[in-house]
Amino acid sequence: MKKVNGAILQRDGKTYGIMTHTPSGIVTPGDLEHIAAVGRKFHIPIMKITSGQRMILAGIPAEDVDSVFKELGPLGTPDLGPCVKFVQACLGTESCTWGSQDSIGLASKIEALVQDKKFPAKVKIGVSGCQRSCSESQLRDIGLIGTTRGWIVLFGGNGGRKPRVADPIAYGLSESEACDLVGRLLDFYQKHGQSQERTARFMERIGIDTLKSELLSMIPYINLDKV
Ligand code: SF4
Repeated sequence: MKKVNGAILQRDGKTYGIMTHTPSGIVTPGDLEHIAAVGRKFHIPIMKITSGQRMILAGIPAEDVDSVFKELGPLGTPDLGPCVKFVQACLGTESCTWGSQDSIGLASKIEALVQDKKFPAKVKIGVSGCQRSCSESQLRDIGLIGTTRGWIVLFGGNGGRKPRVADPIAYGLSESEACDLVGRLLDFYQKHGQSQERTARFMERIGIDTLKSELLSMIPYINLDKV
């Protein structure tokens, strides 16, 4: 995918798209007004909310890319290579009737943990506050699902042309254990994944037994009988 300074070439082959930085899709009225003002100023023809709870501002000529990023400030995300593309969260206990855990709170802690890290391929993370799994956690590279007994952590899922349901790795974790496990899984993938290999293909290549013997068996809060 061709890029100019962190903006992505669009279908027309001559204009670019810029992603907003709106973690978990949470925005203030000020954020929305600022993004709208940038859209007006640069006559951006397409502004769309994406499935990753971000917005893409599309149809930007190459010569405006740097200026749009500058005007967006922290609300813009340059796409600079394989990294965590988004940490998606549902409403969870913040406001959903069904929420068992604070999905937005955990997503923000994970966001801080993975910021600026590079991986063999892009990584998508979905945090759901209950087992209804509105963030489609089973189809994310890293998935988290809240239950009344703590967090379930999943690894190696994706959608796309060859979908894969993620492997459940641990159950009943506290928030700090869940964050710790996400960090360990991503470190392991960073170290052993091949270039451009998504976590789904990585898990198909190495298998759950290798993950158990080389990583999970060393983590005290994981019950290997349940993996
Ligand atoms: S996953 Fe559960 S807590 Fe989250 S929005 Fe859906 S129903 Fe609500």
